[in-house]
Amino acid sequence: MKKHNFSAGPCILPKEVLIKAADAVMNFNNDNLSLIEISHRSKPFVEVMEKAQILVKELLDVPEGYSVLFLQGGASLEFLMVPYNLMRDGGKAAYTNTGTWAKKAIAEAKKFGDTIVVGNSADKNYNYIPKGYKIPEDADYFHCTSNNTIYGTQMKEFPYCPTLMVCDMSSDIFSRKIEISHFDLIYAGAQKNMGPAGTTLVIVKDEILGKTGRNIPTMLDYTTHIKKESMFNTPPVFAVYVSMLTLQWLKALGGVEQIEKMNQEKSDLLYNEIDRNPLFTGTAKKEDRSNMNVCFLLTDENKKDAFDKLWNETGIRGIKGHRSVGGYRASIYNSMPIESIQVLIDVMQKLEE
Ligand SMILES: *Cc1c(COP(=O)(O)O)cnc(C)c1O
Repeated sequence: MKKHNFSAGPCILPKEVLIKAADAVMNFNNDNLSLIEISHRSKPFVEVMEKAQILVKELLDVPEGYSVLFLQGGASLEFLMVPYNLMRDGGKAAYTNTGTWAKKAIAEAKKFGDTIVVGNSADKNYNYIPKGYKIPEDADYFHCTSNNTIYGTQMKEFPYCPTLMVCDMSSDIFSRKIEISHFDLIYAGAQKNMGPAGTTLVIVKDEILGKTGRNIPTMLDYTTHIKKESMFNTPPVFAVYVSMLTLQWLKALGGVEQIEKMNQEKSDLLYNEIDRNPLFTGTAKKEDRSNMNVCFLLTDENKKDAFDKLWNETGIRGIKGHRSVGGYRASIYNSMPIESIQVLIDVMQKLEE
């Protein structure tokens, strides 16, 4: 049976990317060697790393003065690498608390210094994006989460920031146009919109580094990885290769501008049905709704078994909501085809009948 996989992460990748990735595991570059068995210092793999970096720069219009890194440890390691590299001894950082991931980032920063929360949506179970807060000028940096994967909220605008601006874009990078020059450091675990789990994209403005006076362990120091072009140690070759393929796919599709239009169309379609269909209700405040993770509830819990049976029968998978929100979450990242969303909508309408 054909499956429609709405998983939040790891999530689906384009079919053609999976086919090419499978091929490369058996026979990379038609050389009868496996991608995952050759040296990461060999010319073919060095080219992969370079291509992946160039694609990131092209697709996101990364200006001069920024480095593009493919690291390991997931976005979760960035939660501590950011304060390690940017918070001065006795320094201060400002964070927004917009959900589970933001909270984890805050918890790590607290281990390094004074960490203040300037915007917080915990009062309403993170169903909105806080706005109108002031970021103190004396903070070493400000940190926000652009898309809250679990709660289905997304920052549509970014605040004026009088200090360094850091953003966790794990679940919406490459989904819409962003002005990189507005940010000093962006990080994103690959497994939502870029590739398989195992690598983390970091885009960092070079001039912000090396200013904390802190002695940073080599592997956790961004400058180590900048100097060695993400090859200080063995990089996650498979994850970087598949990310490169996904970025090539995105470029061929028309780039970020085109995918942004498609993502808008897909999420409008689904939110319109949630708003129209009396059996469903969205959990996030309308103006802050995520185009990547669509969270919704049944208005009548007694219909749960019937609904679960219906979507299960049509091959839909991965739409159970996160335990902290309940209900359902349809993750509709870049490579989710509109046809799969239509299948979900058909099921919602069938339940109504
Ligand atoms: C998934 C996710 C993370 C955690 O990523 P890992 O790569 O698993 O560490 C962090 N932030 C956001 C916004 C996420 O969606």
